[in-house]
Amino acid sequence: MNTASYSPTTSLTAPIGPVRLRVAPSPTGDPHVGTAYVSLFDLAFVRQQGGQFVLRIEDTDRVRYVDESEAQIFDTLRWLGLDWDEGPDKGGPFAPYRQSERLDTYKPYVERLLAEGHAYYCWCTPQRLALMREKQQKLRLPTGYDRFCYGKTREERSALPGFSETPVVRMLIPDADDEVPTTFTDLIRGEISAPRPDDQVILKADGFPTYHLAVVVDDHEMRITHVVRGEEWISSTPKHLLLYRWLGLPEPAFAHMPLLRNENKSKISKRKNPAARLMWFREEGYLPEALINFLALLGYPPIVEADGTEREITDFAEFSANFSWDKVSPVGPIFDLKKLGWLNGHYIRSLPTGELADRIIEFQVRAGALPTTPSPEQIRLVRAATPLVAERISLLSETVDMMAFLFTADADLTFDEDATAKLAPNTAEIVDAAVAALAAVPEWEHGAIHQALNTALVDELALKPKIAFGPIRTAVTGKRISPPLFESMELLGRDSCLARLAKFRATL
Ligand code: GLU
Repeated sequence: MNTASYSPTTSLTAPIGPVRLRVAPSPTGDPHVGTAYVSLFDLAFVRQQGGQFVLRIEDTDRVRYVDESEAQIFDTLRWLGLDWDEGPDKGGPFAPYRQSERLDTYKPYVERLLAEGHAYYCWCTPQRLALMREKQQKLRLPTGYDRFCYGKTREERSALPGFSETPVVRMLIPDADDEVPTTFTDLIRGEISAPRPDDQVILKADGFPTYHLAVVVDDHEMRITHVVRGEEWISSTPKHLLLYRWLGLPEPAFAHMPLLRNENKSKISKRKNPAARLMWFREEGYLPEALINFLALLGYPPIVEADGTEREITDFAEFSANFSWDKVSPVGPIFDLKKLGWLNGHYIRSLPTGELADRIIEFQVRAGALPTTPSPEQIRLVRAATPLVAERISLLSETVDMMAFLFTADADLTFDEDATAKLAPNTAEIVDAAVAALAAVPEWEHGAIHQALNTALVDELALKPKIAFGPIRTAVTGKRISPPLFESMELLGRDSCLARLAKFRATL
């Protein structure tokens, strides 16, 4: 790694050296889709520039910490192929990459800020802060810390109400407006402004740094050249710029990605939209390449072909090769699941059958529809059924229901209500004729099965194919809709088909 030539870029025109970008999720629940969105754009740039991509776990909020979260972040990013060069599980030159393991790193920075008068201790209890806020709101004053502790010694402060034994450390935001960097350059947005901050806490009473201090220290220590994060952090940037300035550290470049929005333009949140959860896409049976393609189109223009037409199908390599921050739109892109469904169908149909079968097996194992180690027979059945379902699905999850009849024992097969609701009055006659014809099929193969049933039901009983084959489908698959009937019957085998027809006949 070439740290010697590290030179942060603060404008689009500055020369770009070896870049180092990071994604810094907080393990506070299952991962948000925004983590993948930021990672994709980070990596596109990093791979184009030949730099490094760092995964840092920002676990300083011990109250919101969730144990499984970190593993879920690793799993989902890997599933998407958004792999990192340095991280908690991989190590790297700036390890450790988990903030909770870096507490000693932050200490000297805090001490220096205190010593140089840029920070001060605050002993106010949460109750006092709540009262203060209430008062400010009532009087319609700007909310923010009132500096009650500033300039007081511990002794002086302890004599006053609302005193807590364990202090926090706050930044002393300069009073003069021109000393607060509220305007800065963003690679996506150009020159932007953010409000003046109040005296932010940088070290908490539990000894952990807050995000604001940790992010600045770590981005510096880890030689991050470009800080890419969600738009919601724009308002924090002035605090970070102040810290860089006070500590005499070079500033990285900033790019604030647009917030992803629901169709009604509201911010996409895990509480309200299942698609905000990264794991949801895997659970639903989206392919990683479809989700990558989808994310690459969010706030980013499609490829324009030589003849001027637009193309939306793209992959990571192409996205990365052409990537440029100034093409990212700052306007919150709408998360259009219909488009993702369309992309998923496209990728499902582009996969070679064997590969699609592997994905279906992996999906069904994860979903619990197949055992952890499927039997050779189960694998054979999925492989054989894959070409039958490929044209009919836009999600891998749809294969669970479609293939269930193959993995159900004849005795356990049940017939769906919607498949038995509108049976023709002569269904028993149809089934009897089908059984006789099927017993006599010389070679159990879908063409011969089709021919035998056609002769027995369509020709001899003079039924329309839909009327004739509907009950047969219900009998052998238990469902109204299934993969192509004759191919399904071939797969199932003659004995099974006859056993199922007999079972169905008994219910009539
Ligand atoms: N830990 C922050 C988050 O989860 C990261 C923000 C940043 O990238 O600076 O959103």
